[in-house]
Amino acid sequence: MKIENLDPVRLNFQQMSPISGTIDQERIPEKSFSVSSTYESGRIKIKKLVPELRKPKINFNLEPRWYKRVLWRLKADSQFLRSTVQFAFILLCVWIGIEFYLFMKWGLSNGATTFSERPPGAEGFLPISALMSLKYWLQTGIINDVHPSGLFIFIAIVAVGLLLKKAFCSWLCPIGTLSESLWMLGKKLFGKNIVVTKWLDYPLRALKYLLLFFFAYSISQMTVPDLQAFIYSPYNKMADVKMYQFFANITSFSLWTIIILMVFSVFIKNFWCRYLCPYGALLGALSWLSPFKITRNKATCIDCELCTKACPSNIKVHKVGKVWSDECMNCLACVESCPVKNTLDIRASFTKTQIPNWVFGGLVVGIFVAITGLAMITGNWQNGITKEEYLKRFPQIETPMYQHNRGEVPQYGPQD
Ligand code: SF4
Ligand code: SF4
Repeated sequence: MKIENLDPVRLNFQQMSPISGTIDQERIPEKSFSVSSTYESGRIKIKKLVPELRKPKINFNLEPRWYKRVLWRLKADSQFLRSTVQFAFILLCVWIGIEFYLFMKWGLSNGATTFSERPPGAEGFLPISALMSLKYWLQTGIINDVHPSGLFIFIAIVAVGLLLKKAFCSWLCPIGTLSESLWMLGKKLFGKNIVVTKWLDYPLRALKYLLLFFFAYSISQMTVPDLQAFIYSPYNKMADVKMYQFFANITSFSLWTIIILMVFSVFIKNFWCRYLCPYGALLGALSWLSPFKITRNKATCIDCELCTKACPSNIKVHKVGKVWSDECMNCLACVESCPVKNTLDIRASFTKTQIPNWVFGGLVVGIFVAITGLAMITGNWQNGITKEEYLKRFPQIETPMYQHNRGEVPQYGPQD
C-alpha cells in the first residue's frame, strides 16, 4: 500500500479506513511527507521522509582545513562534542592520577624524592567527606581547609545536576565514560546488550537510592561537633592518601568485585551508574527539578522510534512529550538520532526555547569549570595541610589513628 502526502504523526490506523485507504483530510497538511507505509501491529510504519523535513546531513569533509572541520563538527554533532568533553575529563583524571602518584612517592619516601604538589582535584573522589563538608559549611558558614576542593567539586556536580539533569554522568564523570565504553565494547563484541526486564530493573534501580539514603541519613544525624571531629581528624586529613593506598594495594576481594562490576557493565548498559552509584541517585533525584529536559514535538514526530533505540537508559522517548525519567542523562543521543527537523531537542521549560546542542555542552562544562574556578580564585582550592605536616603523617599512616572502624573515627588529641 502506498500513501502519499500524509502527516504521519496523526496517521494511525483509526484515522484510516482499512477498506478505502482514505484518511482524515483535515489532519493532513499538504505535501508534508512522502510515505511508503507498511501495516504492523495496528500501526502504520513510516519509512520515508521528504527531504524538506529531514535534518540536513553535513559533510564535514568538504571543509579543507582540519581545525575548521573539527570546530564545525563540535558545533553540529552533539555526540562528537560529548566524546571530546569525556576524553578531556579522562585526560584530566589521568593527569591528577600521575601527580598524585608523584606526591605519594615523595610522601612514602619520607621526603627523599623530589617534592610534587598534591593535586587538589583528587578530593573529587571523596564524596562522603564532601557531603560532611557541605553540611558543616551550611551549619557554621565555615569552609574547612582540609578538603576544600572536594566541597567545591561536590557543589559543582550538584549544580550541574540541578540545572542540567544527570548531564554530569554522561558528559564529565570518568566512571560514566568507562561504563559507556564497556557497554559499547559489549555491543561490538556480541551485537547487542542485555536489557534487564522491568520486574528486576526497578528493584535494582532502587538499590542506589538505598545507598544514598544510608549515607544521607547517617550524615544528617551528625551534630556540628561530630562533623568537626570527623573533618579535622587525622583519618580525614589523609583520606585521599588512604584511597590511593586502597587501589595501590588492592585486596583480591576488592579487585574481584571491580572485575565483576566491569564484566556486568559489558553486558548491561551503565550497570554501575544505573543500579549502584549513590552519586547517580542524588543527581537522578535532583533531575526532577532541572528546567532543561528532552522535549518531543508530537506534531512532527513520525514515530520511527530511532530515539528510543539510541537511548542508553532504555527510555521510551518516542512515547513521551518530555523526558522526566530520573535515568535520563541528557546525553543527547536521542536528539542526534532523530531524523526529523525540530522534533526532538532539549528545551528550557520556562521559556520553551530550544537549546542548541553545543550550547548545552558548553553549559555542562561551563558550570563545572565556573564553580571549581571560583574555589581557585577565592583561595579555597589548595588545602591547609603543609608539607611538614604531611611528612609527619606519612610514617604514621598504618597506625590505628588512620584506620576507620565501621564509620567510627578513632580518638585523637589536639597534637594529632
Ligand atoms: S532520553 Fe535521550 S538524553 Fe536522556 S538518556 Fe536517553 S538518549 Fe540520553
Ligand atoms: S526519533 Fe523519536 S522523536 Fe524523532 S521522529 Fe523518530 S520517534 Fe519521533
